[in-house]
Amino acid sequence: MDISELAQRVAQGERRAIARAITLVESGRDDHRAQAAELLAALGGARQALRIGLSGTPGVGKSTFIEAFGMLLTGQGLKVAVLAVDPSSTRSGGSILGDKTRMERLSRDPNAFIRPSPSQSHLGGVARRTREAVAIVEAAGFDVVLIETVGVGQSETMVAEMADVFMLLLAPAGGDELQGVKRGIMEIADLIVINKADGDLKPAATRTCADYSGALRLLRKRAQDPDEFPKAVMASALEGDGLDQVWGDVQALTDWRKTHGHFAKRRAAQAMHWFEAEVQHGVLSQLAKSSAVADQMTALRTAVQSGDIAASAAATQVLATFFAKTDS
Ligand code: GDP
Repeated sequence: MDISELAQRVAQGERRAIARAITLVESGRDDHRAQAAELLAALGGARQALRIGLSGTPGVGKSTFIEAFGMLLTGQGLKVAVLAVDPSSTRSGGSILGDKTRMERLSRDPNAFIRPSPSQSHLGGVARRTREAVAIVEAAGFDVVLIETVGVGQSETMVAEMADVFMLLLAPAGGDELQGVKRGIMEIADLIVINKADGDLKPAATRTCADYSGALRLLRKRAQDPDEFPKAVMASALEGDGLDQVWGDVQALTDWRKTHGHFAKRRAAQAMHWFEAEVQHGVLSQLAKSSAVADQMTALRTAVQSGDIAASAAATQVLATFFAKTDS
C-alpha cells in the first residue's frame, strides 16, 4: 500500500480511504503499526475537530441521540464523524455498539461518517486506536468527532481523556435515587443529559434532572469552567427536543474554555498523556518480544520461587540485560 497516496486521499475526505486508514491503525501487526505511524506522520495535526465524548448504559438512547444530534449538526453544514469504543467486545467478542443497523439515517448522510466499534482488543489498544482514528477523521476534515462508549469499566475515563467535552446520557429514574452513577463519572462529565424526557417519562425526567443538578452543585467547583457547568439538562432524542440546547451548551463551554486558555491547556495535557502512554507501550512491547529477557526470566524462575534470590534483585538483573541490549 502506498501510504502517501492513502494520506492524500484521506486528506481529500475520501470515505473509502478513511475507512481503510482506520482499519490500518486498528491492526496490531508490526508492519501495519509501522505503516500507521507513517500515515499519521504524513497526515500531520493541522486540522482539528471538536471532540465530544458521550457515554451511557445500553438502552439509554445513545444511538438515537447521536443520530438526531448528528443530523442537527450536519444540518448546520458541519461534518460529523462517529467513533465507538466498546470494551464489551474485548471480553465477549460480541459488541454492544457494533450493530450496523444503528443510525441508519445518519449513516446515509454524506456529511457524516460512522465507524462501528472493532471487536477483539484490549483496553490499552482501544485507547491508542481510538486516538489514531480521531486523528484520521480530523485530517479528513471533519468538524465534530463524537466518541461514543458504553458505561463499562474504564472506558468512560479513557474517552473523557481524549475528548474536549464529555457528556453522560441518563434515562429518567423511577425512584428518587441517583441511579448508582459513580461519583467519579459525575466528576468527569461536563454535561449530564437526561434523555427520554417525553410523554409519560417527562415528569420522572424533570425530577431526575433536578436531582442531578443538585448533586452536581455539591461537587467541587472547577476553576476552568463557567459557573453553570457542569450541568444537567433534559432532552428527547426521539422527538428531537433539547438537542439544540445541548449543542448550545457544548459551544458555550468550549468558547469559554478557549477564551480563557483552558481548551488548549487541556489538549496539551492530553497530548502529554498520550506521549507518555506511547513510550510506555513501546517499552513494554519490546520487553515482551525480547528473547534475552525471556531466557533470563526462565533461568531465574526457580531461584525466585525457592527464595534463593529476592524477586526485586532478579528483576534488576533482567532489566539490566534488557537495557544493555536496547542501548547497544
Ligand atoms: P443505546 O443502546 O444507548 O444506543 O439506545 P438506543 O438508541 O438503541 O435506544 C434504546 C431504546 O430507547 C429504543 O427503543 C429507542 O427508541 C428508545 N429511545 C431512545 N431515545 C428515546 C427518547 O428520547 N425517548 C423515548 N421515549 N425513547 C427513546
